[in-house]
Amino acid sequence: MNKSLRKAVIAGNWKMNKTPAETKPFIEELKPLVADADCDVVICVPFVDLQAALEATEGSNIKVGAENCYWEKSGAFSGEVSADMLASMGVPYVVIGHSERRAYFGETDETVNKRVRGAIDSGLTVILCVGEVLEQREQGITEEIVGMQTKVALGGVSKEELDKVIIAYEPVWAIGTGKTATPDQAQEVNHYIRTVIADLYDEEAAQAITIQYGGSMNDKNADELVSKEDVDGGLIGGASLVAEKFSAIVKAASNG
Ligand code: PEP
Repeated sequence: MNKSLRKAVIAGNWKMNKTPAETKPFIEELKPLVADADCDVVICVPFVDLQAALEATEGSNIKVGAENCYWEKSGAFSGEVSADMLASMGVPYVVIGHSERRAYFGETDETVNKRVRGAIDSGLTVILCVGEVLEQREQGITEEIVGMQTKVALGGVSKEELDKVIIAYEPVWAIGTGKTATPDQAQEVNHYIRTVIADLYDEEAAQAITIQYGGSMNDKNADELVSKEDVDGGLIGGASLVAEKFSAIVKAASNG
């Protein structure tokens, strides 16, 4: 299998932006702009926006995701939202292990693994984020960090379940900073992650899995990034809040 046979996915991550009232008009604006996309289009939104996003995207090619979920199905976990709850709403995707969750909310590789497990058990497709911080890149340990994050997060996940997993390589130093990884840097690490998947599973699994790049991807740099052999689309933060910019990235991935 080669790149052209893998599914490219462009996913927006709204982070803590937009209200339910802002969600509908945004999606109405986005729908015609991405209607001809030749890649999967996902928007991951705050929990409170999910219902509005599901309603507004109905009948379109835009899929909806959450930005996190908890691994237990229900119980005394105030403030958390379970994967089962998301699935019951008809939400098909969830971002797990975003660097902001790791940096500000105490997520560890182990809790990321539990969330991945819980999400897959509930039938969700996971967008699993991995990536090194600047110090780690400067120390030359990017592959060790990203390899470990990937291995721990996928603990207990079978080869058959991998079709419910998308990996997003997101160098932390590139997220929200305007400092994008070069296409070669993105390619190098995405390729490395594919070798990790080959080691964990096999070559077939490695060739089939979608591995995105994320980190200040925008309408200007997307073309070059998504044209790389091992870059199967992107996870987009800031630029996903502007329909024209986000749709331009979708177009780049459709061509790439
Ligand atoms: C993200 O939130 O995953 C992200 C990549 O953000 P940005 O595109 O703003 O760097």
